[in-house]
Amino acid sequence: MYYSFFEIFSIGVGPSSSHTVGPMRAAKRYIDNLHAKGCFSEVERVKITLYGSLALTGVGHGTVKAVIYGLMGLEAEAIDPEKPYVVAVQRDGLLHLSQEKPIKFDLDKDVVFEKEIFLPEHSNGMKFEAFDGKGKCLLEEVYFSVGGGTIARQDEMNNRIEREPYKVPYDFSTCNELIALCEKHDKSIANLVFQNECTLRKQEDVIAGVLKIHGIMQNAIDRGMKSKGNLPGGLNIKRRAPEIYERLEEKFRNNDYDPLLMIDWINLWGFAVAEENAAGGQIVTAPTMGSAGIIPAVLRYYERFASQKSPYTVEEGIWKFLLTASAICSLYRTNASISGAEVGCQGEVGVACSMAAGGLAAAMGGTNKQVENAAEIAMEHNLGLTCDPIGGLVQVPCIERNAMGAVKAVNAARIALKGDGDHIVSLDSVIKTMFDTGIDMNNKYKETSLAGLAVNVSYC
Ligand code: SF4
Repeated sequence: MYYSFFEIFSIGVGPSSSHTVGPMRAAKRYIDNLHAKGCFSEVERVKITLYGSLALTGVGHGTVKAVIYGLMGLEAEAIDPEKPYVVAVQRDGLLHLSQEKPIKFDLDKDVVFEKEIFLPEHSNGMKFEAFDGKGKCLLEEVYFSVGGGTIARQDEMNNRIEREPYKVPYDFSTCNELIALCEKHDKSIANLVFQNECTLRKQEDVIAGVLKIHGIMQNAIDRGMKSKGNLPGGLNIKRRAPEIYERLEEKFRNNDYDPLLMIDWINLWGFAVAEENAAGGQIVTAPTMGSAGIIPAVLRYYERFASQKSPYTVEEGIWKFLLTASAICSLYRTNASISGAEVGCQGEVGVACSMAAGGLAAAMGGTNKQVENAAEIAMEHNLGLTCDPIGGLVQVPCIERNAMGAVKAVNAARIALKGDGDHIVSLDSVIKTMFDTGIDMNNKYKETSLAGLAVNVSYC
């Protein structure tokens, strides 16, 4: 099933697409449904129940804040991160549903955390209930945040289909199908994605949208390199990107050559975006927020260090990079998962690494088979990667993991580009392996903070 570029790359505020953007969208959709059913005006109380992973790491991941945004009718792009929406709700005990109807709201009573209950469909479940003045339930809906900010209502979870397939000229579900379509129509992967996108929206909107996504990614790097201080959440983690940036600039001024300097820059860019995400800044899901630093970091590596060796102009390369990465993510979303709560961090950092490796190989002039090879290598060496964030915050190991993922993506692309595209492990088989591994993984290692680093590292 084809996933659009604009489903894969969407703009939001950190720190977690599945725990922040998804719940926000679910709450907003629930409020819209109250309007559609004509019962909005009768609502006097709203209750939200968070299940499984959302309950276990929702506080650190900002889920409650996100649900409140959604109930207020806000969408990610419209949120001003500086505005104290939640503080006002806490202070006044009032929530302005859809920004028009004030109801009493007690954060301690009206948001319930069911940490022991994992709903069978997905571990990121949430239930919304609205009551009238006599306590009668007006509407109850259960939603799931299935990764990358995508949501599905309980009745839509059958067969893992989140929506009807798009009518695009080049639909594909597997990498084999994708490569065969490219060969048959003599297209690159990026070109094929572009043709598909132009049937879903106007060509000028596609072009403007891709450029906007690129711009927001790059702005996040620039903001992150300059923003000093500690990250929120209580771990008191100092933002490292500004210091690394200053040291790299100093080395440059002093002509202090180091053959591995490039790695420091890639790390810096990965850190910068991941720290922006952890601080609740505006970023792009790529494919999730926890893994949002990898693609911008590798893109900037391409622009700064690699594009001179590419057969394309810098702009063409960026274009090919992003559209190719989108197709790769579409394969993961169709056949596996990009949700840390479902398959561990291999579905977030692993997928981002795979997308970035394939995107970079395409930008460097790689063939479609080399692109597949790069994406496959990147995932093959992320298999089994667990999700065990300390304190339930998207900080440790997440921030460093973005830097490591970006460097690994560059390496995977370079390995693939040294070959002729022939490889033993196909991208389809590594995607299946990732999903099987994720399903077999103990829930403790899937965004619950019940094991791993989350319990073996002491902090205060
Ligand atoms: S460990 Fe990976 S999947 Fe888990 S919160 Fe961090 S980035 Fe996301």
